Amino acid sequence: MIEDKNTARTSLSDLGEFGLIDHLTKDFEVKHTSTLKGIGDDAAVVHFDNECVVTTDLLVEGVHFDLAYVPLKHLGYKSVMVNLSDVYAMNATPKQITVSIAVSNRFPLEALEDLYAGIRAAAKIYNIDVIGGDTTSSQKGLLISITALGHVKKEDIVYRSGAKDNDLIVLSGDIGAAYLGLQVLERENQVFKVNPQSQPDLSTYSYIIERQLKPEARRDIPVLLKKLEVKPTSMIDVSDGLSSEILHLCKHSKVGATIYEEKIPLDPTVISTCEEFNMDSTTIALNGGEDYELLFTVSQDDYSKIKANPSITIIGHINQEKEGVHLITRGNTKVAITAQGWNSLNENKEN
Ligand code: ADP
Ligand code: MG
Repeated sequence: MIEDKNTARTSLSDLGEFGLIDHLTKDFEVKHTSTLKGIGDDAAVVHFDNECVVTTDLLVEGVHFDLAYVPLKHLGYKSVMVNLSDVYAMNATPKQITVSIAVSNRFPLEALEDLYAGIRAAAKIYNIDVIGGDTTSSQKGLLISITALGHVKKEDIVYRSGAKDNDLIVLSGDIGAAYLGLQVLERENQVFKVNPQSQPDLSTYSYIIERQLKPEARRDIPVLLKKLEVKPTSMIDVSDGLSSEILHLCKHSKVGATIYEEKIPLDPTVISTCEEFNMDSTTIALNGGEDYELLFTVSQDDYSKIKANPSITIIGHINQEKEGVHLITRGNTKVAITAQGWNSLNENKEN
């Protein structure tokens, strides 16, 4: 984002490590009774009545994010979402996170305050205790590692491995938007480099940019499924694109799958932006990534409970492993979905 030359820049070395930790963590308060001790001792203490799920993600500047167009507050928020999404994908409720950062001294304190403002906002909205972390320096750039702890009753846990032949394949929300949002931001960043005075009007892209910069983890989906009295047979979150996630589910469940191109839920902005960028919207939906939707399978017996629900779409069904993993295109061509991606479709595609 465009740096405001008037904002204060306090050097990290002025505070020292402990001053920095105190400054960044002073506003975190403990909300959950399961958090017996949060920040401030050698380790946090948590108490679980049920099973505990644990997940970690590491985000590296230049690999996972580019600070040229990602505001630090959004980055903080998104790094929490990435972890919460994994917890929801286990059908669990996240309760605590730890946040570890490595930061070079090119960052002023104000930058880290922005990062933590995003983390704090996410923790507040999603009702999470920040219970610890670590702070260290890096030679170059920023690294953020977050670990999330979630609680779930043993009988409610949903693994990737439970999909059965004939199960329905279901997706929350819509996909492809986050990747396209990134394309728009990268394009505008190139324009900005050439002409820093340019004031782009991005309002037509607001949905896809928001999906890239400020994703929301689907905490409503485990709640909805519970209300509908549906327990998915398998579940995964869509962080890397639909094709790679469906392949993960199938591999772990030892099944195959059929997905219908016409069923893949796309926002109208995704369709119009794909036209503008001369991209195929199905390719983007399958390979884009960072959507943080939930992909799950349910028994055919549950069809009447989930049909016609606006939050979820049935996009296909599970078949036997030997039948493989395929997409049925709008032109009714059967195309193998492979880990290598999607090129085969473009060669075979009829329309
Ligand atoms: P130690 O030397 O025992 O690792 P630290 O001085 O690094 O302890 O951390 C002091 C307290 O602050 C601990 O509770 C730790 O979990 C917490 N903490 C350190 N860095 C962060 C951070 N970046 N975000 C949140 N909590 C942090
Ligand atoms: Mg430490």
